[in-house]
Parts: sequence; C-alpha cells; structure tokens
Amino acid sequence: MSDQRNSTESQTADRDNETVVSLEDVSVNFEKEQGFVDSLFNDAQRVRAVDGVSIDIPENEVLALVGESGCGKTTLGKTIIGVQRPTSGTVTYRGQDVWNAKDGNGDVRIPYGDIRKALQIIHQDPGAALNPNRKVLTSLEAPLKRWNSEMSPEDRRARIFALLDRVGMQPPQEYAHRYPHQLSGGEQQRVALVRALLMNPDVILADEAVSALDVSLRVETMDLLLELQAQFNTSFVFISHTLSNARYLTEKAGGRVAIMYLGEIVEIGPPKKVLRDPKHPYSKVLRWATADLDPSHQELTDPPVRSIDIPDPVNPPSGCHFHTRCPEAREACTTEAPELGDEAGQPGTHCAGCHRTDPDHEYWDSDPLDGVEAEFAPRGESDD
Ligand code: SF4
Repeated sequence: MSDQRNSTESQTADRDNETVVSLEDVSVNFEKEQGFVDSLFNDAQRVRAVDGVSIDIPENEVLALVGESGCGKTTLGKTIIGVQRPTSGTVTYRGQDVWNAKDGNGDVRIPYGDIRKALQIIHQDPGAALNPNRKVLTSLEAPLKRWNSEMSPEDRRARIFALLDRVGMQPPQEYAHRYPHQLSGGEQQRVALVRALLMNPDVILADEAVSALDVSLRVETMDLLLELQAQFNTSFVFISHTLSNARYLTEKAGGRVAIMYLGEIVEIGPPKKVLRDPKHPYSKVLRWATADLDPSHQELTDPPVRSIDIPDPVNPPSGCHFHTRCPEAREACTTEAPELGDEAGQPGTHCAGCHRTDPDHEYWDSDPLDGVEAEFAPRGESDD
C-alpha cells in the first residue's frame, strides 16, 4: 500500500477541521463485582474507569490512546463513540449532546440513529464479532438494512462489493459468499473494517484492532487503515497497549498520542513530542518498555518506577495518582492533583499532567518521597 499521507499537511488540516466529538469533564464509574457474601456485608465499590477527561476529536484525526491494561482506554474509546454512557460530564457529536439524543431530552437536532451511524467500532477480535453461521454478505447487509432501509438490494450489494474490493478482497463476489471460518485473521479484520466503513462514519474506534495479527500483516493493516482514513475523511481513535503501533499510525498520519493512567489522560500531543521526548514520568516508563523507542532500554535492567504494583482503581492514590510509583515524586504530589491544562484536549498542543512542568510549583520546594533518589533535574527541566 502506498503512503498517501503528508504529516505536515495533515496536522494543519486537523487544526482547521470542525470538531466531530467533544468530551467535557467526562467520568465513567463501574460497580466492582463482588461475591455474594461480600455483597451482603459491604457497600458496592465503584471503579473510576475514566476520571474527568476532556478532549476534542476533529475531522480527519488519528488519535492513539495508549496505556496499561485496565487504564480505562477502552472505556474512554467507547464513551467517545457514544456506546458507553458517562457517569458525569458531557459527550457531544457536532454540538448535539449524544445522551440527550438517545433519551429524547430537550431539542434534539441530530437523531441518535444518525449519531450511531456516524460513530463506528472495529473490535479486537473480528472473528468473535462476526456471526459464524452467516456469510460475509449477510453480515454486511444487516447494518445497511437497519440504518439505510431505503437503499435497494442492488445498491446494497454494489456498495458492499466495492468496499470489499477496496480493502483488497478480490474478487469481492467470491469473498462475500464465504463464512468467517473460511477467512484468515487479516481477512476477517478487513471485513470488520468494511462493516464500519459502510456507514460513511465520521469516527471509527479501532480497539486493539491489529494486536492479534502477526507483524507483517499488522503493518499492512495499519497502512490500509491510514489509506482509508485519508480517502474517506474519517477520524480514527486507535486503542493500543504498545507505543510501537501508536507511533507508526500517528507519525504517518500527523495525529496525536494520549497516554492514560488510572482513568486519566496524563500526557497528550504529537507523537514526536510524547513518544520521542516525553514529559510525564509515566510516559517515560512506557517509552522504556518499548525497546525500539528508547536506546537506554538496553542498559537499564529495571523499569524507571519505584513500584511495579498498579494501585487499586477503586481507591486511587491521593494527589497525583502516579505518586506511589513515580521515581520523581515529592510530598506535594501526594496532596495536589496536577492539571493537564485547558488546551490539552485540543489538536496541536502538547501537555503533561505533572507538577514538574511548572517551574514555580511548590513541588520544587517539597521533600522527596521515600525511595526517590536525591538527584533531581533542575526546575522547568520538563518544560517545552
Ligand atoms: S506530579 Fe509528582 S508524582 Fe505525579 S508524575 Fe509528576 S513528579 Fe510524579
């Protein structure tokens, strides 16, 4: 697949493009599962899966959400595409509150059905997402029948065949009559991509969409995603637990990387900033864990954290949630949560939620926590 992208042009386009989805101070809490006996004697515990996130997704954006398992990236992704209801905060699609549209509250300018069509998802395991007893054609016709009922059967098939052909499944008529088990993992992922694209969506959430593929197929599929993203003017929110895939996609597309920790975005910006020159100590840990990004990885035997234990999201640490693991934590970090900044959710900005980015913060005059080395970088070392 040829690379049709120009990073500089794309970044410029992002700044000029209209916001498709906007999240304002969004939190999502889940009730933690308890055993029967526990539930008799203890109150329900709440997991803060997403904690006060604000972010804008403009047209033609490629945004990668990266973080450890359980950091909330999938929940945030599903909240962005309007399939996860937030506990608090607002999610809007082109200015329309998504959940008011769903509930029929107030003056609904954009029906919820149109929003659902515009915000699509590709799951990690396309095999599980496809009905094993249905041919590809039947699986692809179902959403068109549901959401585009006025489309004639001939037009439906013509659109399906054209898209199968477009993603390299040739001849499309033959692939359309196969069952999922007659397709390879890469072919199943392409069918899932076609199903998402059938709706002409504004945003596609790709949830670990290439992690199950082998390396060569992974690169080929990411190139295909980028080509289609450019061709269809679709924004992609790409969820990954590895920086390598996030870097590949966002550097090629001129997109953004958002690093998540315990339900919060702790750093966000262009990949050249976030991945090559991270400001947040947690981003540095992820970078350390990605050998092809960090040459010092070869020399360090231990990860740059004070503890490898991830705190309980039911009861996250006070102040900065990362302070129990951060190798640079001081007393001030235990009491005051750092701000990511008002500009953080907007394209073109690079922001990290760490007191070290503020050369005047009281952090610099407070004592290091136990286990933190006495050597510190000078004030403002982390500033851009
Ligand atoms: S605010 Fe403190 S604990 Fe949090 S990342 Fe920065 S230095 Fe570490």
